[in-house]
Amino acid sequence: MTDQFSMTIGGNAVTTSRSFEVVDPATGAPFATAPECTTAQLDEAMQSAQDAYRTWQRDESARRKSLLAAADAVLAAADTIAPLLTREQGKPLADSRMEVRSVALWLRHFAGLKVDDEILQDDDKVHIRVRRRPLGVVAAITPWNFPLSLAAWKIAPALRAGNTMVLKPSPYTPLATLLLGQVLSEVLPAGVLNVVSGSDPLGARMTEHPVPRKVSFTGSVATGKHVAASAAPDLKRITLELGGNDPAILLDDVDVEAVAERLFWSAFRNNGQVCSAVKRVYAPQDRYDEVVEALASLAAAVRVGAGSDPESRLGPLNNVPQLERVAGLVDDAVRRGGQAVVGGAVVDGPGFFYRPTILRGVADGMAVVDEEQFGPVLPVLPYRSVDEAVERANGTRFGLSGSVWGTDADRAAAVADELDCGTAWVNTHLALRPDQPFGGAKWSGIGVENGYWGLHSFTEVKVLHRSHA
Ligand code: NAD
Repeated sequence: MTDQFSMTIGGNAVTTSRSFEVVDPATGAPFATAPECTTAQLDEAMQSAQDAYRTWQRDESARRKSLLAAADAVLAAADTIAPLLTREQGKPLADSRMEVRSVALWLRHFAGLKVDDEILQDDDKVHIRVRRRPLGVVAAITPWNFPLSLAAWKIAPALRAGNTMVLKPSPYTPLATLLLGQVLSEVLPAGVLNVVSGSDPLGARMTEHPVPRKVSFTGSVATGKHVAASAAPDLKRITLELGGNDPAILLDDVDVEAVAERLFWSAFRNNGQVCSAVKRVYAPQDRYDEVVEALASLAAAVRVGAGSDPESRLGPLNNVPQLERVAGLVDDAVRRGGQAVVGGAVVDGPGFFYRPTILRGVADGMAVVDEEQFGPVLPVLPYRSVDEAVERANGTRFGLSGSVWGTDADRAAAVADELDCGTAWVNTHLALRPDQPFGGAKWSGIGVENGYWGLHSFTEVKVLHRSHA
């Protein structure tokens, strides 16, 4: 065990006598510790955010400048942050570098967004102005799959709108976020961004805490429901970005050879540990074998290994429960008649590696199809008519995103229009940008992040109605 990391509270680096271990998923061994935030420290973080809010919300141009400086600071620290992210999360170093760059991209984008007042009437009788004002302190909670970019989806718009924040990463991946907090404390006023870490009761303590006016949460459906319930007693605003079970429908005119690689990485990026990864493929019955074979040959060729190895395209799964869950879902599917055309097994040796897996002979109703597997496993399902495929694609509690693939892009777009989800892509999947709102229908969430819509979700409307009479 080498490193100990600090929380950022009121601009200061803070440790504590109790800490918890962080495991390297490529080896299965702990390599660092993170502070276990005490109740008093959480109170202090909330109070610091509350105190900083008074000044921070007043000066819009100072906020813009701070966010631009924050983007520069993140890029300057990229060579330290990215390897740490790989070490705790498992993803290949190139992906970690991309994730760090995305933080800077988000900070810059939101620094440049304007929150304009709207004038409804302005004449000799009346002046009505609608303003978007910040909410106050935001409690932000993130999962372990994209600790940094999902934190940036919250930090950039929330701070831009004039809120301050207490941010808590997942206990599986706290370190890169703790480091981010330290890096940003050099350029942000004290208390504007506080980063705390701790094992699971800490999240609930944050959502129950009286100070935050909003909880911005990304994580599983089950935890999202707890967050909604615990925010309810004092009517905290909530944004919930939850799980997905994204379908990809291939139409009969799809050029399999042309799209196979894009489709494969839409499912396997970050080892499938992506809320909006493709998690089910629907292929026309008479193109089924061709689709399965194309995906299987890509899965067989992909290089799996430690994220620190530049040759690795896929790293380990992040943690043991996730590895066990993925293995359990595949074993269940195989017991029920499915076949792993490629993969279907844990990799022998240390670390939490699972072989990229393509499943055929599976059906709706099997857990690997109906649930969010969140791993390097892709079930391929045949369909007979497009209407049937759409009905099956929509036949889920989830509604995060989906995609339709075909040579006639207009026809594919018309089918994509039928998908009951927050984002529907055509001939692509997982294409996300800071100006494009992202959120889920049904159990996949409440509210959206990113773009003006995401920015607005960190504000509330205030009307000034002035009568000249
Ligand atoms: P999780 O729900 O287990 O944990 C998410 C976060 O919530 C962690 O920081 C955890 O410590 C915290 N937490 C745990 N219990 C809590 C409680 N009672 N109150 C408040 N916070 C609590 O999710 P996970 O396993 O870390 O992440 C995987 C899930 O996240 C998947 O379902 C995935 O689809 C989802 N996800 C969604 C999006 C999106 O934008 N929709 C993005 C990424 C991940």
